[in-house]
Formats: sequence, structure tokens, C-alpha cells
Amino acid sequence: MEETGEKKKPAPEGLHDCLIVGAGPGGLQAAIYLCRYGRSVLILDRGGGRTRHAKQIENFLSHRTISGQELIEKGMAQAQLFGALMERQKTVTSVEKSKDAGFPLFLTGTADGGLYRSRSVIVSSGAQDLLPRIGNLHKYFALSFFTCVDCDGYRTIGKKTAIVGSSEGTLRLALAVKQMYADNVTVVLDGYSPPPGYAEEMAQAGIEIIYDAPASLSGQEALSSMELKSGRRIPCEAVLSSYGYRLNDSFLEKLKAEGRLKMDPSGQKYETSRHFESSVRGLYIIGPLAGSDQAIVAAGEGAIAAMDLNKWLIEIYSGL
Ligand SMILES: Cc1cc2nc3c(=O)[nH]c(=O)nc-3n(C[C@H](O)[C@H](O)[C@H](O)COP(=O)(O)OP(=O)(O)OC[C@H]3O[C@@H](n4cnc5c(N)ncnc54)[C@H](O)[C@@H]3O)c2cc1C
Repeated sequence: MEETGEKKKPAPEGLHDCLIVGAGPGGLQAAIYLCRYGRSVLILDRGGGRTRHAKQIENFLSHRTISGQELIEKGMAQAQLFGALMERQKTVTSVEKSKDAGFPLFLTGTADGGLYRSRSVIVSSGAQDLLPRIGNLHKYFALSFFTCVDCDGYRTIGKKTAIVGSSEGTLRLALAVKQMYADNVTVVLDGYSPPPGYAEEMAQAGIEIIYDAPASLSGQEALSSMELKSGRRIPCEAVLSSYGYRLNDSFLEKLKAEGRLKMDPSGQKYETSRHFESSVRGLYIIGPLAGSDQAIVAAGEGAIAAMDLNKWLIEIYSGL
């Protein structure tokens, strides 16, 4: 990539204008904006992450197809080019807020005993998919076993598709997939009994419901069948899993316990302003922790958060 900007040095005494938790599309986009405002930015990332697992992203503007790994590597290079500092293999374990001579001060701790100081924090740590134990999952994950209809539903077109999960959402997903992508749809309901009326609706749509749980996947090269816990084998070329995900937010526990950081009444995401500022001034939350689950949306939220945060930094630094 061509050099376009001055590399910024770390802020004096290791005090950063913003510390970003997570080098996914959300955190990296925020870093690019903030660095281009001349702010000092440190990104801490523990590695892995959902976007890195995506083998083919086809819905991100300007790329016909790109792997999540390549998207992240390009984003990291771009953020570093504009001066972002990056520490990899760093697991954030705590975020606290105090004051320093009237200025806000965040203290971020890491698993290896590190303690980082910053005026603000952007949390972009994403989520982890909840998945049952399924034999051979590693062979087919993100190739023919998918966890997100917005990401990969398109790749089930015309395929024998199994929808696996344990909620009403699993049934609604099956109806949607049948309408949009595939004629041959089977639902495997794992430990869940649908409310009255669903069985008829599914039958009318031509979708079989099987009350069982996935056990293993098989096929020569491509996926061709899924074995269930009962021993039954169903033919399938694609699987959409709908067990949901768990937020990567354990490092926010203290702020929550103090009652300063609030979750939305659903308990599934954090309360934020429309600029993604949380109930703690100077702490922004984007991506799945704010309720969205798409790479390009996380990136957009990173841009919105960074623009708003920069206005706040202008205010506090100029004493307004
Ligand atoms: C298989 C798969 C395919 C997908 N395909 C698409 C697609 O085609 N299109 C699309 O738009 N979206 C896709 N997604 C969804 C997309 O990856 C998510 O929406 C993602 O959350 C968006 O990026 P993010 O920055 O929010 O999080 P992530 O990409 O998950 O990045 C979060 C980062 O935070 C780091 N982190 C987490 N906890 C900590 C901690 N305590 N300390 C330090 N670092 C931490 C992680 O290591 C990770 O690097 C896919 C997801 C999966 C799983």
C-alpha cells in the first residue's frame, strides 16, 4: 500500500486518545478514522474472531469475494499506515474508568498483566457462535455449514438445506430459506417444541421437522449428509445453524456491576446512543455488542463512533 500519511508516535507517557478492543472490521475502521483525525490509537487484539473465520465474504462493497482473513489483514495494514499502534495476542480482561486531573481516564487490563491508559475506549470485540458438538464440523465450517443467513444464505441456493437449532427462530429461518433460496429444506429441532400452529405451517410449506440433534457431517469432498444423534442420516448439501452467539464482553463486568454500563432490556446487547456511545461517557460499543452482525455494518458503526468520539475529544481537549 502506498504511504499516504505521517506515522503517529504513541501519546506521551503511553496515554492514548483511544484504546480499541478488537481488530475486526469495526475496530479497524474506527482506528482509520481516528488516526486520520491525528488521534493516538492503540488496538489490542487476542486473535481469532468471527470475521477471520469467513472463507468467502461476498456482500462487502468493492470486493466480488474476499476472505475474512484478507479483509482483516488489509484493514490492519491500512490502520497501521495511518499510525495506529497494534498489539496482537493481547486478551483484554478489564476496563475501568476514573479521572485524571479532571480528564476522563480509562484503565484497560490484559491477561498478561498489562495495564493501558486512554482517554476513551471503543469496544469492538464481537461474539462467539454457540455450536453443538458436531463431528467433522471443522471440514465444512464456513464452506457448507453456515451460522448467518445474511452472510451465507445466498450460498444455499438450490441446495438440499438443513436448518439446525433450538428455538422458534430456527423455524422462522427455515421458512425464510425456503422462500428465498432452496426448495428442499429440512428442520432439525434440537430440544425445542414449537408453539401450536407451527407444525401445520411448516407442513404447508413442505418443510419436514425432525425432533433430533445433529451428530456429524459427511461427504466425499462436498457435504452430502448429516447424521443425527438418533442414528438417522439425512441428505444435505448445506446446513444453516441457528443456535445464536455469545458476546465477548466479560471484561466489561466491573462497569456493569457498578451499574454504570447498561444493557438493553433484551439483555442481548448494550444500550448505546445512535453514535454508539454507551451509558459510560467516552466508552463506545459497536458490532454484535451493539446488536448488529455484519462486517460492513460493524465497519460503518466504527466510522460513526469514531466521528462522534473525535468531537468529544475536541471538546475535552479545548476545555469547552
Ligand atoms: C463463518 C462466518 C462468516 C461470516 N460471513 C460474513 C459475511 O459474508 N459478510 C458479513 O458482513 N459478515 C459476515 N460474518 C459476520 C461478521 O464476522 C460479524 O458481524 C463481525 O462481528 C463483524 O466484525 P466485528 O469487528 O464486530 O467482530 P470480529 O470480526 O469478531 O472481531 C472481533 C475481534 O475482537 C477480538 N477480541 C474479542 N475479545 C477480545 C478480548 N477480550 N481482548 C482482545 N481482543 C478481543 C477478537 O479476537 C477479534 O479479532 C461472518 C461470521 C462468521 C462466523
